[in-house]
Amino acid sequence: MFHTTQAQIEESIMIQPNSNQGTINPHCSICSQPISGKSHPYNDIGLTDYGIFNHLRVYHCNYCGFGFSAPELSEKTVNLFYEKQYRAKNSTFYFNFNESIPEGLGDIRSDRSFAQIMLARAYCEFDAEDIFLDIGPGRGGSFKLAKALLQRPQLYGIEFSQGAKEFYLRNFGVVSHQSIDEFIKSGKQAKILLMSHSLEHYRLSELTNLFSALTPALAKNGVLVIEVPHVDLRIHSEVRGVDTPHFLFFSKQSLSLMLEKCGFDVLFIDTCGDEFKTVGEQAFSANSLSSKMKNYLKPFYNKLHPRHQNLFRTFVRMIQKTISFRFVSQNEMKVLPVHSYGGNRDCLRLVAKKK
Ligand SMILES: [Zn+2]
Repeated sequence: MFHTTQAQIEESIMIQPNSNQGTINPHCSICSQPISGKSHPYNDIGLTDYGIFNHLRVYHCNYCGFGFSAPELSEKTVNLFYEKQYRAKNSTFYFNFNESIPEGLGDIRSDRSFAQIMLARAYCEFDAEDIFLDIGPGRGGSFKLAKALLQRPQLYGIEFSQGAKEFYLRNFGVVSHQSIDEFIKSGKQAKILLMSHSLEHYRLSELTNLFSALTPALAKNGVLVIEVPHVDLRIHSEVRGVDTPHFLFFSKQSLSLMLEKCGFDVLFIDTCGDEFKTVGEQAFSANSLSSKMKNYLKPFYNKLHPRHQNLFRTFVRMIQKTISFRFVSQNEMKVLPVHSYGGNRDCLRLVAKKK
């Protein structure tokens, strides 16, 4: 039951108020310069109110643009969220892992995994039977594209949820591990290691351990491909999208510096995806309108029975699509943002190898 889980999560916050609560590291974890004292409200405007994000604030470094939320939630709280709430039926991020994927490749031109794998291939040789590892594969789209673009890849995933693991195995023949350490212990190394929109979900205190695990998981001539939202709070505090459930926020400078500090050579880094709008444009954009709509509807949504929440969400998505359609000009419909680089765009894509 959702309410039990919510109560469990709230309880775990009360049982273990994090030791960092109320205090933040005064220096940037990446460039060591002083952190700006000014904080930003955490932008939690999904329809589902998860509770655990309500008390967060976002801080940033004025020197490199790195940002993070505080206070840091406990590992137990975050794990419970991903295990029970993140993909649940009443969640904004619901996905049914019991469903089978449609036959065939479909139109892959606007699939970001297509652009990521082609970029990785430009910086490494991928031979038959080499390993493709995805940390945080989400709906598993990268596995479909890896099978289509690479020569007989061995597919591996790092995934927490049992339902998702079974989904990857059934649809793409993927071997999933619970953690990167478990993958390393199996004696394997990845030729392409993908972290697409998963790094920003890590807690600040987990960064050091994560990068020390990435080094042994990557083959000597393999490449690490990272994509994260481009949220440089020095310039994006008013125009960024929803924060939930992200804990880390990267500028181009901070992402590159972090990789260099963690023992990687950055081979490529650039912005990609949709172009950011200015504050003025944002106020009239489809995104902003649907955010305002969600804010307005959220109290009503939270009072609904979980069964009706699902129906209601589908209805809201239909309205959002209609609004978005009206705002997309003919000219914009011709571009493929996942393949476009440079300027002020809403994602960062990086390719690195071990030093
Ligand atoms: Zn910094």
